[in-house]
Amino acid sequence: MLIGILKETGNENRVAILPGEAVALKKLGIEVIVETKAGERAFASDEDYIKAGAGVKSRSEVISQAEMILSVNPPVEDDLNLFKAGQVLCSVLNPVVNSRWLEEARLHKLSVLALDLIPRTTRAQSMDILSSMATVSGYKAVLDAASLLPRFFPMFMSAAGTIKPSRVLILGAGVAGLQAIAIARKLGAIVEVFDVRSAVKEEVKSLGGKFVEVEGAKEDTAAGGYAVEQTEEFKRKQQELIQQRAIASDVVIGTAQIPGKKAPVLLLKDTVYSMKPGSVIVDLASSSGGNCELTENGKNIVVNGVHILGKTDYASEMSSDSSKMFGCNVINLLKIMVDKEGKLVLNIQDDILNGTTAVHAGEYVSQRVKQMLKIN
Ligand code: NAD
Repeated sequence: MLIGILKETGNENRVAILPGEAVALKKLGIEVIVETKAGERAFASDEDYIKAGAGVKSRSEVISQAEMILSVNPPVEDDLNLFKAGQVLCSVLNPVVNSRWLEEARLHKLSVLALDLIPRTTRAQSMDILSSMATVSGYKAVLDAASLLPRFFPMFMSAAGTIKPSRVLILGAGVAGLQAIAIARKLGAIVEVFDVRSAVKEEVKSLGGKFVEVEGAKEDTAAGGYAVEQTEEFKRKQQELIQQRAIASDVVIGTAQIPGKKAPVLLLKDTVYSMKPGSVIVDLASSSGGNCELTENGKNIVVNGVHILGKTDYASEMSSDSSKMFGCNVINLLKIMVDKEGKLVLNIQDDILNGTTAVHAGEYVSQRVKQMLKIN
């Protein structure tokens, strides 16, 4: 198979495959062609790709020659007429945001694989791009907070006296939250954590965080390990306790989300006004509404001396390692999509490929896409 890597558009710094991963693809029998300057913002030059055995071509050559087109974001700005029926496009999709583009892709008989829909099963763990990017976000969120905070994270004992460690409150202990706990602890902060899933309690403790328990959390084994919407009584109790802990904190990192729903609002406006001036809130849930009532998606604001960061592009900011992780996840997915000679075998009966294929041969395939787009 010949795979084409596109240069990302807009503010995106990542590239789907770095030269090192192009070498790994060759070992699977997959040839790679890369659009000119595709890796530039992830610090990989055209020469690096050529040394890795990949071809470097113009955008139109990549699109017209490759059997599969790989990119971080879907090439929505391209004229879909450039792509040929039967060609496979593979990227993070955001099916709801890109629903019209997806419908056009279906009518053009393209196959579209959505990397954000890879099932979160044990077998698919090594392909899970969402986890990789959440790891980057959890790490960067803490570093961003530490650099903005007008205080040290660790305790300091010096001739000028003793400085107490900072207190970090983490809302949600999924992939991003656990990474944030680990980094905040490494920097020497005291870390407190809220989550509604009891399963994470031990993980939080093993990373050195304190799990703050709120009685009466609703859990559902059918939710596949994810959180579910809580009762009004639980929400009220949890908000009260979060208010107390946030006022005592220097940094709050919000990561709490419920798949397919608006993120829970855990930090109210009044709480922010009661926090110490100079404190920092990093709201990683901002694109799904935010954990803080005052968060503005994609913006950094200051309210009553408190920084509220609603940034969503941490993975793009750390383009080198994000691209490496992205590429490794994609290679693991490709391993179940090619035969021994490296030829494409798109078996949509396979549970991972069935969940990931948004459209194929003129039909919607993934149940989740159908649910999201309300297609019968
Ligand atoms: P997520 O981004 O959906 O949510 C982040 C965290 O917020 C979760 O821990 C959730 O319980 C928590 N949360 C939701 N509502 C909350 C509330 N009201 N108050 C406090 N916390 C709240 O989660 P995620 O990082 O995508 O991971 C969720 C689950 O999926 C975890 O169990 C994780 O281990 C599992 N997972 C499995 C795989 C895999 O097997 N391939 C990969 C990644 C994650």
